[in-house]
Amino acid sequence: MLIVQKYGGTSVGNVDRIKNVAKRVAKTANNGNKVVVVVSAMSGETDKLISLAQQISANPQEREMDLLLSSGERVTTALTAMAVEDLGIKARAFTGWQAGIVSDSVHTKAKIEKINTERVKAALDEGYVVIVAGFQGITEQGDITTLGRGGSDLSAVAIAAALHADACEIYTDVDGVYTTDPNIVPGARKLEKISYEEMMELASLGAKVLQTRSVEFGMKYNVPIVVRSSFNDNPGTLVTKEDADMEQVAVSGVAYDKNQAKVTIKSVPDKPGIAARIFKTIADANIVVDMIVQNTSTDGKSTDLSFTVAKTDAQKTRALTEELMRGLGAAGVDMRDDIAKISVVGVGMRTHSGVAATMFETLANHGVNIMTISTSEIKVSCLIELKYMELAVRALHEVFGLEGAVQK
Ligand code: ADP
Ligand code: ASP
Ligand code: MG
Repeated sequence: MLIVQKYGGTSVGNVDRIKNVAKRVAKTANNGNKVVVVVSAMSGETDKLISLAQQISANPQEREMDLLLSSGERVTTALTAMAVEDLGIKARAFTGWQAGIVSDSVHTKAKIEKINTERVKAALDEGYVVIVAGFQGITEQGDITTLGRGGSDLSAVAIAAALHADACEIYTDVDGVYTTDPNIVPGARKLEKISYEEMMELASLGAKVLQTRSVEFGMKYNVPIVVRSSFNDNPGTLVTKEDADMEQVAVSGVAYDKNQAKVTIKSVPDKPGIAARIFKTIADANIVVDMIVQNTSTDGKSTDLSFTVAKTDAQKTRALTEELMRGLGAAGVDMRDDIAKISVVGVGMRTHSGVAATMFETLANHGVNIMTISTSEIKVSCLIELKYMELAVRALHEVFGLEGAVQK
């Protein structure tokens, strides 16, 4: 079998843990498998590099940022290869570009365009375990890129797809995907399996156990993804195609996201083309907008327009909207980041009614005010004050009956 294993930041967080990863890799190789390993930087390392850049410059160039950030994964890739060799197994370390990962040129959140697998395949055929640096690629022009936070998951899934691997195992510090973050709700239950669609919603709504784009990629190329712990041998969670069982429950998970900021442009003229202008400008800056609310104007002339963006894009968005505001004749821009988005997700929502009503009622019973609501076929999200986040997650987890013993 050809197995792709990805080890996250905590799993390679120090020398002993890298040696532990090497043992697991060696075991898989000794069982007769071809193994490709994708590693993240040591935990905290990417944040440290970002902070260094911020201390140097208020506005570091994104191209240079990527060169900097990609270094964290180079370190663990080389060290992991050394640790595997030490156990008597041949190993080769590759950077993203050496592994043929070609991306577009949107620095700091590049998309993988293709993978030239020749070098990796040749090394596997020569009997090497291949260790690839996650989170990075290279443009056609030869510039190093990174794939967005949590992007090593995407590297692993994309490599698994390109190599037609038999399995893509994501090893992390929890032993699977739970009904909500087990670090917030100790009573959260491990799921035996989850559909790509639900996992994609959970991830995009804040459950960082898998990067959203990695799940999207997995769904597109039908890569079976298993989330497991690198610290034990518990069975993990399979992310797979939806089946009939999955529709039985209305809500399968609760997610939270405290990394958003809410922008309000006040007294925007109420006429055609204004929203298009605002969001085109923001999209052109490669900023992803999430929840959008626009009220109808009471005076027929102007209205407030609110939307959310990632906190990391907040300053860039403020600068853009303030400039737009002057051109549009709006009254001002407000920004707040003491907010959280909480969401309930489940494919069963397509057939069960009343989920949104139960969610709103539960929040009301706990005195939590809802600022913004957004829904899709399989999720309901509410924006609330950050200080109520944990309370809200616990209350929703309970009201939808998600507590329970760990599934085996
Ligand atoms: P890695 O460094 O291995 O990539 P991450 O920190 O990115 O790990 O992701 C694992 C973390 O995701 C867990 O420690 C947990 O706190 C968080 N998490 C959030 N929601 C969930 C969920 N529904 N199930 C499991 N883990 C979750
Ligand atoms: N090291 C990168 C990050 O912290 C990528 C990853 O861990 O997947 O976002
Ligand atoms: Mg991660």
